[in-house]
Amino acid sequence: AAPPLGSSVIPVVNKLQDIFAQLGSQSSIELPQVAVVGSQSSGKSSVLEALVGRDFLPRGNEICTRRPLVLQLVQTKKKGDGSEEEWGEFLHRPDKRFYDFSEIRSEIEAVTAREAGENKGVSDKQIRLKIFSPNVLDITLVDLPGITKVPVGDQPTDIESRIRTMIMSYIKKPSCLILAVTAANADLANSDALQVAGVADPDGYRTIGIITKLDIMDRGTDARNLLLGKVIPLRLGYVGVVNRSQEVIMAEYGCLLLVYLQAEKDINLNRSIKDALAAEEKFFRSHPVYSTVADRCGVPQLAKKLNNILVQHIKAILPGLKSRISDALVSVAKEHSSYGEITESKAGQGALVLNIISKYYEAFASMLEGRNEELSTS
Ligand code: GDP
Ligand code: MG
Repeated sequence: AAPPLGSSVIPVVNKLQDIFAQLGSQSSIELPQVAVVGSQSSGKSSVLEALVGRDFLPRGNEICTRRPLVLQLVQTKKKGDGSEEEWGEFLHRPDKRFYDFSEIRSEIEAVTAREAGENKGVSDKQIRLKIFSPNVLDITLVDLPGITKVPVGDQPTDIESRIRTMIMSYIKKPSCLILAVTAANADLANSDALQVAGVADPDGYRTIGIITKLDIMDRGTDARNLLLGKVIPLRLGYVGVVNRSQEVIMAEYGCLLLVYLQAEKDINLNRSIKDALAAEEKFFRSHPVYSTVADRCGVPQLAKKLNNILVQHIKAILPGLKSRISDALVSVAKEHSSYGEITESKAGQGALVLNIISKYYEAFASMLEGRNEELSTS
């Protein structure tokens, strides 16, 4: 199979992100990220999980995502024996590799409660998680709390505006791609997702519409016109998806209880998300309406679209990034000279930055020359 799209470019950006974090100037760069926005329970976390291909995010019919989760996917090489090791690492626990993805979910829930309380409270303090896997594309995804209108639990009366402000702080950045998630059984014309995305990105250059829950639309209705952009046009278009419902998850748990073996558990979870993707594919393929708009249906199409757009996007922001790198480098150099002598670690850091920059230029050059197929076809 061909290497994942953008794999030659995006790792460079992820490295830059790490370097800038070390240089302490993280906030001054706006690197491309992909954020999900929409109403609570529209399926945002489910879409992210499907893109990652693993089961690890808190999700459900109540408010589950209560802190922004910055999720950096890092592609690793397959091991020599063909085995596929996947693990997660949290910024707040650099000492621990999480190989059990259900433990990642528990950790997210625990640190959510630590910051935002046990009773539906919301906090804007980030959780930062890296997932290392041979099966992912190198992208940074942001899972955000959903828009909710009526305060519940410990939520303040102005919960809606607080969440909107939090969402805007991510999606207003010109470098942020917006996945605007609306459930097919909600009214698209009143979509919170499209409304908030429209404020952040009025021209629609970086908003992808996602329609979830196509499987539970009223009998006799379908989302064809939504997907074709005939209801609300969107420059980058729409993708329809079918994620797992809560019932399926319960059924899986029932199954897990029967096969109560730690070793089997991961395999089962793994298979269940694969099953979900297979079920989604079957749903679209056998559907009389959706089979006619197959290029707008399914998580794999979303991944493809996303990557195309992401590479275009990186290409567009590279010049701006370049000047920021130079600025940061100059300020590091100044700092060095103010110490009178270059300490070893600082010198190492400077060399690292230079190394990264040269790699970044190679990637840039290859894109401009159109060596990246996908770029020249879009
Ligand atoms: P979020 O609040 O937007 O992050 O939404 P979640 O991803 O937590 O999903 C909310 C609920 O809807 C969960 O119980 C999911 O299992 C369910 N759900 C999400 N997407 C779909 C879908 O495409 N079809 C069905 N039937 N259920 C879905
Ligand atoms: Mg969520």
